[in-house]
Amino acid sequence: MANPHYDLIIIGGGPAGQSAALIAGRTRMKTAFINAENPRNFVTTASHGFLTRDGAHPSELLAVAKDQLRKYPTVDYIADSVSDVARLAEEFSATTAQGTTMTAPRMLIATGHRDNLDQLDLPGIEDVYGKSVYPCPFCDGYEHADAALAIFGHGAIKHFVPMMRIWSRNMIVFTNGNSLDAKVKAELQTKGVPIEEGKVANLRSTGGSLTHVVLDDGREIARQSGFVVEEFSSPATDFAERLGVIAQEENDWGMSELAAAPGTTNIPGLYVVGDARTGFAGIAAAVSEGGFCVEMMAHEVAMERWAALPEDSK
Ligand SMILES: Cc1cc2nc3c(=O)[nH]c(=O)nc-3n(C[C@H](O)[C@H](O)[C@H](O)COP(=O)(O)OP(=O)(O)OC[C@H]3O[C@@H](n4cnc5c(N)ncnc54)[C@H](O)[C@@H]3O)c2cc1C
Repeated sequence: MANPHYDLIIIGGGPAGQSAALIAGRTRMKTAFINAENPRNFVTTASHGFLTRDGAHPSELLAVAKDQLRKYPTVDYIADSVSDVARLAEEFSATTAQGTTMTAPRMLIATGHRDNLDQLDLPGIEDVYGKSVYPCPFCDGYEHADAALAIFGHGAIKHFVPMMRIWSRNMIVFTNGNSLDAKVKAELQTKGVPIEEGKVANLRSTGGSLTHVVLDDGREIARQSGFVVEEFSSPATDFAERLGVIAQEENDWGMSELAAAPGTTNIPGLYVVGDARTGFAGIAAAVSEGGFCVEMMAHEVAMERWAALPEDSK
């Protein structure tokens, strides 16, 4: 049997891919929407900051998206994982773990990032990540306002600490054995922010709630919740690089951007949106990027079809 052929293949069905699929359906593009259904934020208890779904678990967004996409007959939702991608003469192909290969002249990568928590070297982090220790203060700071916070990190700390004061002035910086830049350290001390430079032996918790940061020297420092400055994430797939996308420069937060907004890359027909593009988009931005990217794509498709019409039929 011939491989199924589409106008567009969307790989990844987090908020960026879901929104892309919605606009693809509404612009009547024949779309393969392939999703492994295993995003990085499923570890969290609730996601915040996305209007109408503030406080919902990410699985609720996926369930609603799947339900609403059912009414668009040109969108095939495929719950599967893409294991291989290729660039053909004028098309792209995607092969899934279940062995289906499909082709399309356009491909949108929305596979997100994955967190490499082991690189944090914080024993016990898996028990609290997304439950009382988080990567994003805009996502979870409000729920921990005025709490006794632990801030884990050293690199971008000079940006992070001033911002965290939006939510709590009760914070201790734990560098986990790393030395802070002398100027940054002096500045934090002048502003009255305590710093612990010892190695963290364990994050003690009860039912996902952080209770103490235990240091190598045996001290147990009571804390209610925390934030990690770097979560050491990396792209969930290397599909963009494999297809020839050249990364843009890193931004001030050390995030490399794989494509310019709205997702266009140096490879015609190949788009990257959401966390896959920026490292940490947040739900609202991921939704915006996915939808806008496909709107721009629909313009291109319409103009191509227009140009291909014989002159007397225009
Ligand atoms: C702990 C935590 C808490 C967060 N809380 C919030 C919050 O409260 N508010 C907020 O706005 N943001 C939050 N974020 C950030 C938010 O989760 C992301 O920015 C957002 O989900 C990015 O959307 P995305 O669609 O780009 O990627 P993702 O949501 O990561 O989705 C990527 C999708 O691609 C799929 N995929 C990956 N590889 C393949 C493959 N090979 N084949 C098929 N599918 C594949 C995955 O299974 C996944 O479903 C949080 C992040 C974390 C880690």
